[in-house]
Amino acid sequence: IPVDPFDIVIFGGTGDLSRRKLLPALYHRWLDGQIPETSRIVGTARSEMTTKEYREMAREACETASGKSWDAKAWKVFEKLVEYVAIDATNPDADWPTLKSKLSSNSDHPCVFYLATSPRLYVDISEALGRAGLATPNARVVLEKPIGTDLDSAREINDGVGAVFAERQVFRIDHYLGKETVQNLMVLRFANMLFEPLWSRNYIDHVQITVAEDLGLEGRADYYDKSGALRDMVQNHMLQLLCLTAMEPPNHLDDDDVRTEKIKVLNALTPITGDEAKRLTVRGQYKAGVRGDEPVKGYVDELSSDTQSTTETFVAIKAAVDNWRWAGVPFYLRTGKRLPYRHSDIVIQFKPTPHPLFGEGNDAVNRLVIRLQPDEGVRLYVQIKEPGPGGLRVKSLPLNLSYAESFTVRYPDAYERLLMDVVRGNLSLFMRRDEVEAAWTWVDGLIEAWDRGGTAPELYAAGSNGPLAAAMMMDRDGRAWFEGK
Ligand code: NAP
Repeated sequence: IPVDPFDIVIFGGTGDLSRRKLLPALYHRWLDGQIPETSRIVGTARSEMTTKEYREMAREACETASGKSWDAKAWKVFEKLVEYVAIDATNPDADWPTLKSKLSSNSDHPCVFYLATSPRLYVDISEALGRAGLATPNARVVLEKPIGTDLDSAREINDGVGAVFAERQVFRIDHYLGKETVQNLMVLRFANMLFEPLWSRNYIDHVQITVAEDLGLEGRADYYDKSGALRDMVQNHMLQLLCLTAMEPPNHLDDDDVRTEKIKVLNALTPITGDEAKRLTVRGQYKAGVRGDEPVKGYVDELSSDTQSTTETFVAIKAAVDNWRWAGVPFYLRTGKRLPYRHSDIVIQFKPTPHPLFGEGNDAVNRLVIRLQPDEGVRLYVQIKEPGPGGLRVKSLPLNLSYAESFTVRYPDAYERLLMDVVRGNLSLFMRRDEVEAAWTWVDGLIEAWDRGGTAPELYAAGSNGPLAAAMMMDRDGRAWFEGK
């Protein structure tokens, strides 16, 4: 469905995110006929370049990202929407008037300001937009992660942006929430009578959420070494996945109903502080090892400086959601770099049957595995009888729903969906201020415990499943990580 005409200004319009995700997302929405011809896309950054040069940069980026769906003829029409204005966002005397002149003066026309720059610039840019008269009621501002590096810095950003834009104009993006399978999690839970009655401590033994990467630093050393896995992955993506898994059914799908249910989960997370951090968390850092058959360097050798780093590239956490539904059900979170293969899964492990009719030692239990990437799908492991006359042998096999096999349509990237939601003013897949701050409060408590306890990361070989302590954390509880492909 086409959206109404809109303007979008991308700050950091020459950066990695813009080239790999934002410009290709807009181009694909255009190809699908969703973007009206009177819309405008304005890239901006400090570098001096002409609109012609910017269009050429954007074309290369979109062609690379599009693969087989590249359409050179359609691009010729699309590129007419794209312009460039050079602006140093920290300079109040920069060319804000030219930027303004590129945008529609129609007050009904939504204008999206996408801040794809360092978060240090979010407040400066917001203030400059305010001074330039661009923070109109129809303006929307999109903030990329990370929103700060702790609670105080997140508040500073939220206060600074909030002084210019109302909360309903602020779209804090977490691209995981734009993934089809993540949205499907809500459909699976709330559009099927099958799961919800079982979705509690009565029938669920535990939940595992894994976001595993096989890659290392990939040129992001400066950012990553200051951040680490907890801030980079857990504070945002993984806690959002936990919220969607654990939240109560919202009354409606309205923005605030969903977000209100999510914040209740964040507020119910038991803080992990003091010595508890040693028992409930594992920090790891990869050393040299392999990726596939190729030898790869360890984390500290990938850093450009010679300094030793204690930044974690792996974290495992046994979290607890302290409420009526989830009392006593552990939520195991695990994320890391240089693990054997890239995959993100939510695993709901059900309790064993009350009576082992088919023999002791049958560890097969029902398990719902929601795979978010790379091969999106849902698998429900059920017990069936192995065929054959040799006795009654029980085997665990999945009922397998693969998105790729069930839907032959092209899979839109998460940014495509989220960008169109911003244009429509639909906030439900974006984080509210209190969500971000509640997540930081929990994460800050854990970081403080690590700092006080002097917990150095345990080394694990690149290509392995992470530190031994992560396996032992599960083993102590009589459980194991789900490693199934
Ligand atoms: P990047 O490649 O370093 O790009 C930064 C952009 O900001 C460039 O276009 C740069 O262009 C511009 N810029 C820097 N200082 C500026 C200033 N004073 N005024 C105006 N523009 C300025 O960064 P990125 O990887 O695209 O990341 C952008 C944001 O998205 C960050 O907050 C990052 O955490 C977040 N993010 C990125 C990814 C990703 O995959 N890349 C994923 C999730 C979140 P000039 O140097 O020409 O000014």
